[in-house]
Amino acid sequence: AAKAAGGQLVEYTPELDERAEAAERLGADLRHSLDDGDFQVHYQPIVDLRDGRTVAVEALVRWTHPVRGPVSPAAFIPIAEDNGLICELGEWIMRTSCRQLATWRETTGDRAPRYISVNVSPRQLSEPGFPDVVMSILAETGISPSDLLIEVTETAIFGGGTATEAVETLHRSGIRIALDDFGTGHSSLGLLRTVPVDVIKVDKSFVDEITEPGRRAVIVDALIHVCRGLDLRAVAEGVETAEQADYLRDLGYQYAQGYHFGRPAPDPITAEVARASAA
Ligand code: C2E
Ligand code: CA
Ligand code: CA
Ligand code: CA
Repeated sequence: AAKAAGGQLVEYTPELDERAEAAERLGADLRHSLDDGDFQVHYQPIVDLRDGRTVAVEALVRWTHPVRGPVSPAAFIPIAEDNGLICELGEWIMRTSCRQLATWRETTGDRAPRYISVNVSPRQLSEPGFPDVVMSILAETGISPSDLLIEVTETAIFGGGTATEAVETLHRSGIRIALDDFGTGHSSLGLLRTVPVDVIKVDKSFVDEITEPGRRAVIVDALIHVCRGLDLRAVAEGVETAEQADYLRDLGYQYAQGYHFGRPAPDPITAEVARASAA
C-alpha cells in the first residue's frame, strides 16, 4: 500500500507507479522551465457588480511546457507543492504580479486595479521567512501592503502551525487575507473568527446552483449573511452568465469574478483602457 495525496492508504498498483513517474518527470521539467522562463502570469478581473468596473485582478500562473504545450495549474501546482519548487515559483509569481500592478499604475493611472490577489499554497505559507520575502517584494516594487490580497485555502490554515502564524504576521503587516474556495474544505465557520480573514471567495460550485433547475441558491444566500455579520467582503467566483450576476447582485453581493466578466488574460487592464478610449 502507498500513501495517496489525501493521506488515506490505497492499494499499490502499477498505474500508481506510472503516475508517480510521470509526476517526477513533470517535476523535473518544472525545474528547467523555471530557469528557461516558460511561465507567465495571467490576470482575471474581479468586478464591482454595481457598475461592472474592474476593481482588482487575480493572478493565475500559466505554464507552457516546451514539448506538451500548456499544462493546467491544477495538474502542476500539486507537483510543485510536493517537490518544493512552489516556493521559488510562488516567489516569482508574487514579484511578477506586484511589478505588473506597479506598471499598470504608471501606464493607466486611476484605471489600474486597486489591488492584486495572489494565490499562495500551503507549502509556501509554512516556509520559514515567507512573510519577509513578501515584504521585500513589496518594498522592491513600491506596492503597499494594503494593495495585496493573499488567497489561502481553508486546509492550509486549518489547525494552527507555521502556516497560521504566517497568515497572522502578514495580516499584521497590513496585507489582506482571502479564504479561497470557501465552503469546499473541512473547516467550520468558526475558523472565520480565529484566523484574520478579510475576504471570502465563494466557490464556483455554489454559484453554479443559482442556475441549476430545481435548486435554490441556498448557500450563496447564507454566505452573504455570514459575511455581513462578520464584516467580511465576499467575492463570488466562477460567474458565467448574466443571470447569475444579476441574482448575486440582488442578494447583496458586491464583487464577482468569472468568464462572464473576463477570462484570465496576459493584460486585461490595458485592453480595457484601450477599448474605453476607442469608444
Ligand atoms: P482558484 O484559485 O480557485 O482559481 C480559479 C480558477 O477558476 C482558475 O483556474 C480560473 O481560470 C478559473 N475560472 C475563473 N472563472 C471561471 C469561470 O467562470 N468558469 C470556470 N469554469 N472557471 C473559471 P486555473 O487558472 O486553471 O487555476 C486552477 C487552480 O490552480 C486555482 O484555483 C489555484 O488553486 C491553482 N493556481 C492557479 N494559479 C496559481 C498560482 O499562481 N499559485 C498557486 N499557489 N496556485 C495557483
Ligand atoms: Ca484563487
Ligand atoms: Ca477559488
Ligand atoms: Ca479552485
